[in-house]
Amino acid sequence: MNAYIERVIADVRKKNAGEPEFCQTVEEVLSSLSPLVDAHPEYEENAILERMVEPERTVMFRIPWEDDKGVLHVNRGYRVQFSSAVGPYKGGIRFAPSVNMSIIKFLGFEQTFKDALTTLPIGGAKGGSDFDPNGKSDKEIQRFCQSFMEGLYKFIGPDVDCPAGDLGCGGREIGYMFGAWRRLTGSYANGALSGKDPLFGGSAFRPEATGFGAVYYLQSVLEHEHDTIEGKRVALAGFGNVAWGVCTKLAQLGAKAVTLSGPDGYIYDPDGICTKEKIDYMLEMRASGRNKVQDYADKFGVQFFPGQKPWGQKDVDIIMPCATQNDVDMEQAKKIVANHIKYYIEVANMPTTNDALRFLMEQKDMIVAPSKAVNAGGVSVSALEMSQNSERLFWDGEEVDKWLHKIMKGIHDGSAAAAEKYGLGYNLVAGANIVGFEKVANAMVKQGRAF
Ligand code: GLU
Repeated sequence: MNAYIERVIADVRKKNAGEPEFCQTVEEVLSSLSPLVDAHPEYEENAILERMVEPERTVMFRIPWEDDKGVLHVNRGYRVQFSSAVGPYKGGIRFAPSVNMSIIKFLGFEQTFKDALTTLPIGGAKGGSDFDPNGKSDKEIQRFCQSFMEGLYKFIGPDVDCPAGDLGCGGREIGYMFGAWRRLTGSYANGALSGKDPLFGGSAFRPEATGFGAVYYLQSVLEHEHDTIEGKRVALAGFGNVAWGVCTKLAQLGAKAVTLSGPDGYIYDPDGICTKEKIDYMLEMRASGRNKVQDYADKFGVQFFPGQKPWGQKDVDIIMPCATQNDVDMEQAKKIVANHIKYYIEVANMPTTNDALRFLMEQKDMIVAPSKAVNAGGVSVSALEMSQNSERLFWDGEEVDKWLHKIMKGIHDGSAAAAEKYGLGYNLVAGANIVGFEKVANAMVKQGRAF
């Protein structure tokens, strides 16, 4: 590995010792950049790597909120604004008990490259809270969101930072935060948040965007392999918004999602999650707040595997982890390889541990696609929402879908070409890192040494 990269990784590990997820991601991204950094001495001369691994600004704030019994709770809020070199900060807000500084920093770092890959003018950020939305009443969610926005509003705005949703934060939460934003700032400025309802400036097609985009990316991979999507059987993890979009698009294209997972285990539906009734039921499961995938097995009479992950499932052609980070470790990766699966398409952010990812990429017959490219459809449609807001326009779903398709194909083809250019073959992981990094690094070099 390039000595400059090694030095920066070692330094990040030393400075951020309490943040394992952040260190893991920095190592994953930087270690694939050697050929690029070798070819560009100006990156080291301008301390580009040192600057890129340090967020431009980090805010952490207190979120007091009252539950329905009048008891006051305090959660912690975060916004890590990683890079605005190519546009205003952009990235989701995550509400989950697992949220901490390490998780938000790794997500913000990844987001910078993901957002650069979209080719749209957006920088990278991530935010959230350790608040657990499961089991909370609507009023509690509303009070929490209002308090969250009180802590955040000074740091965002259409030309500064445009947060959106992520795990545990969907259209409802964005609506409550937007209402609070209007009250606190006295301005409409609807580009301050994306993922809004189309009634007040949201884009058509945002709920579908991440899942549909992931399947469009998969189609480009299959095309590259002279393969087709019809009849393919896909093992998915998760059952939230992204998994819903993936199931919907797969069904439209004649493929089948056959597993879903939750914190309680996984279900296997050999006939596929492809009827309208089954796909709609995923929305009901999510809205119930029970966070249990077993409900699907009970409703449709399919097998439920308590406490297990779907990665050892037989009769599967494609793997798409859509749940959360580190869902596939070495033990799970070995099961995937033992089942001779050819396509490993990451969808959730960092669903694979570094050792498992390396192991999967070493398999000669396996194609690995990285989440920062595959799930970039969500943030792309968010950026289109910002464009529509600034123009006071509304594009119909068909128009947005056309853009999404084009962007996802561009991300795949650009990553494949970059990896080829640096002699790495069809390496989509390295290719995505190279394209994202190159854009941000070159923008930084051209903007001088001040920031
Ligand atoms: N949370 C999504 C992501 O990680 C969407 C972000 C956005 O729309 O800004 O890309």
